[in-house]
Amino acid sequence: PRDQRTESAECLIREGDVVIVYERHDRMKQATVCKGKEFQNRFGVFPYCDWIGKPFGSRVVGKKGIGFVYLLKPTPELWTLVLSHRTQILYVADISFVVGFLEIGPGKVVLESGTGSGSLTTSLARSIAPLGHVYSFDFHELRAEAAREDFKRNGLGSLVTVAVRDIQGQGFPEDLVGRADAVFLDLPQPWLVIPHLGRYLEGNVPLCSFSPCIEQVQRTCEALTSNHFTDIRTFEVLLRSYDVRTQTFGSLSMTGVKEEIAAENLSQVRKLSGQKRGRDGLKQTEPLVMQGHVLTTEEVTNGKECIPALSSSSDIGLSKNPENTGVERNSSERIVARPYPETRGHTGFLTFARQGSNLN
Ligand code: SAM
Repeated sequence: PRDQRTESAECLIREGDVVIVYERHDRMKQATVCKGKEFQNRFGVFPYCDWIGKPFGSRVVGKKGIGFVYLLKPTPELWTLVLSHRTQILYVADISFVVGFLEIGPGKVVLESGTGSGSLTTSLARSIAPLGHVYSFDFHELRAEAAREDFKRNGLGSLVTVAVRDIQGQGFPEDLVGRADAVFLDLPQPWLVIPHLGRYLEGNVPLCSFSPCIEQVQRTCEALTSNHFTDIRTFEVLLRSYDVRTQTFGSLSMTGVKEEIAAENLSQVRKLSGQKRGRDGLKQTEPLVMQGHVLTTEEVTNGKECIPALSSSSDIGLSKNPENTGVERNSSERIVARPYPETRGHTGFLTFARQGSNLN
């Protein structure tokens, strides 16, 4: 069993381990190490027996020296990126907000419904370990079973109990009254459960409900208000990642360099114009600026450096003082920041509340 491994042995890959196979920062897969079998991807063929005994984090090369991947130890953040989607899931931006706002930490007991694909549950389990517990409920038997299987494979079986129950129809089980430190709902009609939550939330226990649509949020808030909840707050978490790097530009006066910069700028323009629509259909076009001035297409193609508008030093938390950060280390080096094209847009709204009567 896992617990009997020493800390250094924990870092070595063994038969039966779940491994995150990292191909690129936006392309990862899960695999279970199985002697005699092989992992295949578009880069090559990787016999699992080559992985056994290697430390997590190793780079391994495929058969005949073709292709390579990195073998990472699963974390809840990585698991969210590789799990089998049996439902829509919560992603890391919302998950970290939920864990922080519900003050979920070691030893806490959390009630959750629905379990779905277990994305949130995996993070909850890590947060409450080693002595807390997550009681997760889903009315879909196959989903509950698949989630149980995933938690077992990830060594979380003892921290999570998944039960099949119609929470909107029946509420949480009686034997959990007075046990919860936090309650989380990701249900289509959370307003049906809210009237029955009172006894589970006694003692100022916080509640969070996730809903993708604002109409659901409105109905949830109405139910919270009419059931005397207080501290009702709804958040939308939007995450934007930047690729920040130092880029070398030649002097505009040097022969030949101008064309080089123009070519570089054109390729950046093409990359940026490819970001016009994100997965949520929102426009994500970035104007190109240099020292506060938005560049015209002509200026860009004629050889001025281009930096997306939101990459000014204050936006990316960097000082313009060269001694401090080296934003302008010399005339030809600049720190530039581009938003990643895969930046996620709207996923949903998080509504937090507490039971009013306990605050009086
Ligand atoms: N938060 C989960 C995650 O991060 O993976 C995703 C939850 S998924 C969107 C919603 C789940 O709620 C589904 O698995 C569905 O079966 C379950 N569900 C819907 N109505 C339910 C009910 N009345 N009682 C219990 N579970 C329900």
